[in-house]
Amino acid sequence: MSNIIVLAEQQNGKLANATLHAIGAAKQLAAQVGGGFDIAVAGNGVGGVAEQLAGFGAGKVFLAEHGSLEKYTAQAYAQALHSAVAASGARFVVAAATSIGKDCVPRVAARLDAGMASDIVRINDGPTYTRPMWAGSVLGTVRVNTDIQVLTVRPTEFAKAEATGGASPIESIDAGVDAGSLRMSYVGIDAAESDRPALTDADVVISGGRGLKEPGNFALVEKLADLLGGAVGATRAVVDAGWVPNDWQVGQTGKVVAPKLYIAVGISGAIQHLAGMKGSKTIVAINKDPDAPIFTVADYGIVADLFDVVPELTEKLAAR
Ligand SMILES: Cc1cc2nc3c(=O)[nH]c(=O)nc-3n(C[C@H](O)[C@H](O)[C@H](O)COP(=O)(O)OP(=O)(O)OC[C@H]3O[C@@H](n4cnc5c(N)ncnc54)[C@H](O)[C@@H]3O)c2cc1C
Repeated sequence: MSNIIVLAEQQNGKLANATLHAIGAAKQLAAQVGGGFDIAVAGNGVGGVAEQLAGFGAGKVFLAEHGSLEKYTAQAYAQALHSAVAASGARFVVAAATSIGKDCVPRVAARLDAGMASDIVRINDGPTYTRPMWAGSVLGTVRVNTDIQVLTVRPTEFAKAEATGGASPIESIDAGVDAGSLRMSYVGIDAAESDRPALTDADVVISGGRGLKEPGNFALVEKLADLLGGAVGATRAVVDAGWVPNDWQVGQTGKVVAPKLYIAVGISGAIQHLAGMKGSKTIVAINKDPDAPIFTVADYGIVADLFDVVPELTEKLAAR
């Protein structure tokens, strides 16, 4: 029996990259609390994902399948993942702090009557867990006092697990989904289609803010992003104004990113925005206000009008 279980995430049979970071965190935790780790995956017709997960050194991969798990809904997935945790007997439950992780895992914790630490960025001796509070302006250290501890980990703060080449046994379990009890059903998803890399996986992110003045000017940001093979991000101000899709939002109430290069264009650097990008390796800020808070986290600051700098930068990069 393993001490830890990782709740894997898949959508339409595709394993979420963030799960590999959660496995990385589980390995760190295992080095401290002892015992190995198992992995659970829930869905319908997701045997292929279980096979993929069998290559990461887990004691076992629990596969919970049910017709009600064809598409993600928090309630049904929480029931299935709870069944997997119960089957494993693990004391530590680890998942990635993605949108789905944030939506589903607290429900699993409630079903287990377990304490939960969310969005953790570090595992300390004890174990205690470090997590951002107040939009990342302080880092708190928390301890979970219940027998079972449930954790969501910030993918950007834990290295991806590498495949070990082994093949863990896959155990199909009764998903324990009570279809009659489900009070929500999947209707559809309104997702923005894009050929660009996913915001949370991209090595380069170019984000735009209100300094762009109007939605049409976002093309400047998109052109630069496409040239560098990057993803496009945005502040909440422009998302709320309806300029760009919601899933471009970076920050406390958006996505947390940590690319190799983050270019902030016409973004003031409000604390809620910094909470989602200040872990980026190199930050470049373009803002005409020398006192803009974005410059406090920038490695390179360009105090200038973005309408001069961005086209020039794009042109020079294209020429190279
Ligand atoms: C509970 C809560 C949660 C929030 N969550 C988020 C979140 O997840 N993500 C997020 O981003 N925000 C979030 N916010 C909003 C946040 O507080 C800010 O309002 C927002 O980030 C500001 O967006 P902005 O930088 O685009 O706009 P502004 O603050 O208006 O900044 C625009 C910047 O553009 C510069 N500028 C203007 N013209 C030019 C030019 N021609 N050239 C160069 N620079 C120029 C200006 O100097 C200014 O610094 C949240 C707020 C709350 C209360």
